[in-house]
Amino acid sequence: MKSAPHLPPFAEVVRLAELVALDLPTIELARMYKHREFTDHVIDILWPKITARGRAYYKGLSTYEGRLCQPHNNTTRFVISHACTECNREKLAEYRQSHPEKAKVAHALWHQANRDYVNAYKRARRALKREQAA
Ligand SMILES: [Zn+2]
Repeated sequence: MKSAPHLPPFAEVVRLAELVALDLPTIELARMYKHREFTDHVIDILWPKITARGRAYYKGLSTYEGRLCQPHNNTTRFVISHACTECNREKLAEYRQSHPEKAKVAHALWHQANRDYVNAYKRARRALKREQAA
């Protein structure tokens, strides 16, 4: 099994930046490291041989364009699992169908954890419907 992507220790990143004479304040490098928000420019300089998946991970993205999934004709994959996003969607739907009670609990927990988002969404949806009716 392929290992999950990871960032090298920060001290190593700083050493690497000094080695290639990266023109960037260390505090800015620390910010990028902390929030996993490296720019393409910095990635190109520090890790010229990085994979598409590694680049996506260093930029804090959850998906990347990787190997083609034949049945789905899809190249978008999840950084964490390598899984094709369409395969993942199908497997999830299958799981929900075969475990309806667990899916129901997970759904309720999500709504509980994202109450503010759900309320804002519903408010916006009602406003849109009112606008369309008028
Ligand atoms: Zn697929």
